[in-house]
Amino acid sequence: MTRVDTPIKIGVVGTGAIGQDHIKRIAEQIPGACVIGIADSDLARADMVAKKYQLEVFPDGESLIASPEVEAIIVASWDPSHAGYVRACIKSQKPVFCEKPLATSAEDCLAIISDELALGRKLVQVGFMRRYDPGYRELKAALDAEMIGSPLMVHCRHRNRVPGPQHTSEMNIKNSVIHEIDALRWLLNEEYRSAQVILPRRSRHAGQDLQDPQIVLLETESGTRIDVESFVSCQYGYDVQCEIVGEDGTLSLPDPAAIMTRKSGLRSFAIQQEWSERFVQAYFYEFQEWIASIRSGEILGPTAWDGYVSCVTADACNLARQQGGIVPITLIDRPSLY
Ligand code: NAP
Repeated sequence: MTRVDTPIKIGVVGTGAIGQDHIKRIAEQIPGACVIGIADSDLARADMVAKKYQLEVFPDGESLIASPEVEAIIVASWDPSHAGYVRACIKSQKPVFCEKPLATSAEDCLAIISDELALGRKLVQVGFMRRYDPGYRELKAALDAEMIGSPLMVHCRHRNRVPGPQHTSEMNIKNSVIHEIDALRWLLNEEYRSAQVILPRRSRHAGQDLQDPQIVLLETESGTRIDVESFVSCQYGYDVQCEIVGEDGTLSLPDPAAIMTRKSGLRSFAIQQEWSERFVQAYFYEFQEWIASIRSGEILGPTAWDGYVSCVTADACNLARQQGGIVPITLIDRPSLY
């Protein structure tokens, strides 16, 4: 007879765009887990989501985290609230999946790391979902198998159709390029040495105060050079590209599968419009593996250390954007827990 595990009971803080996406995903696709409670500073939104999925609404994130019914937490509220909720989860000794960024300052990331070190185990996973995307995983396997020899250069493009209403130049890096920052150090197995940001002529589609596009240049400790084009008002769709140039060849991230149409003298295929479509498989694997790791008792996904490194690197990029020149990236020694 096969043993049927009881679903892990999850609480979600923040029920906006991605919070609702994760609630839907867990309800429809992840059999080993169920969301039982939610909290959101927008109570009307929480009520609407609760009604749709038959969930309990808690008055605030803290009471949701403290509830004895809730076994694990997803933090999908706005960025500045992440660190406080993550620390409350560690205090309650509950696994927590925190959407990126882990925190808005390196200091807050270090406080989280220090909480985990005091506890002596990892409870935090950060939502760097590209590590779960099948294309990125193929790139990683090919690099680890040394298919192209040592990587020398990486060329990336990260384009969004239009920026959100509150989008700022800083967010091009802290909220968008942060995915490349994490994925590339994971792919290359090393940290960054320095950052620089080059500012091309602004697009007429960018808002009045928005510097868009931006080109982020990173150098790794071994001297691999990375360029990331960040262009959040590209108009035509959501487009993520990554080419790694090695000593013996190149590797390119595959485009999502799409049917080709030949019609009226044109050959064409659709380009996806939103990140939620492009990385739908990655989110699925991310949650499937997170739930499996909670069950096994060992969190295996991106850690608080990864959240810290990405925050320090993003801060260095933003400093480089503001002051010009090359900004060195300095990290604390990596604790053995990570
Ligand atoms: P959103 O649509 O604005 O939703 C955030 C929700 O959290 C809103 O309902 C907001 O209420 C609520 N909230 C804000 N502060 C709160 C607090 N202190 N406690 C409880 N609820 C609070 O934002 P989103 O696009 O879903 O993004 C949420 C988080 O996910 C962000 O940190 C973002 O960086 C991250 N994200 C990650 C990815 C990815 O690809 N991994 C993609 C998108 C977003 P109000 O509207 O009243 O403020």
